[in-house]
Amino acid sequence: MGFRATVLTLYPEMFPGFLGQSLSGKALVRGDWSLEAVQIRDFATDRHRTVDDTPAGGGAGMVLKPDVLARAIDHAAPEGDARPRLLMSPRGRPLTQARVRELAAGEGAVIVCGRFEGVDQRVIDARGLEEVSIGDYILSGGEPAAMILLDAIVRILPGVMGNALSGVHESFEGGLLEHPHYTRPQVWEGREIPAVLASGHHAEIEKWRLAEARRLTEERRPDLLAEQRGPSQPVTK
Ligand code: SAH
Repeated sequence: MGFRATVLTLYPEMFPGFLGQSLSGKALVRGDWSLEAVQIRDFATDRHRTVDDTPAGGGAGMVLKPDVLARAIDHAAPEGDARPRLLMSPRGRPLTQARVRELAAGEGAVIVCGRFEGVDQRVIDARGLEEVSIGDYILSGGEPAAMILLDAIVRILPGVMGNALSGVHESFEGGLLEHPHYTRPQVWEGREIPAVLASGHHAEIEKWRLAEARRLTEERRPDLLAEQRGPSQPVTK
C-alpha cells in the first residue's frame, strides 16, 4: 500500500485540489498514494454542529474545540495507527526537505488543518500533534499548508517523478540552492547561454554548476551554509 494521507478539515471539498493534477494527480489515480479528507464538523454533537468557541481569557476570534477535534482524530487514526499526527501551525517547526524525506519514507500522515485562531492546546498535547509550519507568515487556514506539505511528500514517493534522477541535485538536497537552468535558443533577447554549458565538458560543467550553487547560496541563503558548517565549527546560540 502506498503513502496514506488523512486530512482533518472543515473544508474537505478543497481536496484534492491541485494535488489532483499533474504528477501527484496521476500518482493518486495509480494508487501510489491515497487521500482521505475528513470533515471535522461531523464529530460535533450539538444541534448546531458547533466546532469552535470563544477564547478562554478573552480576545478576538474563535478556537477549535478540543472534544470535537479529538473525536475526529480518534476516528481517523484509531489506536494502533502508527502514522505521525501533524498539525499545520505557524508556531510549528519550519518544514524542511529533510523532514519531507522522513515523512515520505513512512506509511503516511494524519494532518489536522486549523482554522480561526487555532486549536485548543489540550488536544495538541493529548493527541501528540506535531506542529508543522510552512513559513513565517499567517494563512487563513491549514488546508493550503497541508496541500503544500503533501505536494512535497508525494513528488518524491517511489515512481512518482518521471525522471528518477531529477531531485538528486535539487535545492536543499545538498545543503545548497540549485544552480541556474538554461535551454534553447542559444541566444535569446541578446542573452547567451553560458559557454561552458555548450562545451560538452562534463567535469567543467559540474564545476560551474557547483560554483553557481555556492554563489547563489552565499548571496541568498547564508543561513544554509552556516548550518552545514555546524558539526565542524559549532555555532553557539
Ligand atoms: N492565531 C494563530 C494563526 C491562526 S491561522 C497564530 O497567530 O499563530 C489559522 C490556521 O491556519 C492555523 O491554525 C493553521 O492551521 C493554519 N496556518 C496559518 N499559517 C500557517 C503556516 N505558516 N504554516 C502552517 N499552517 C498555517
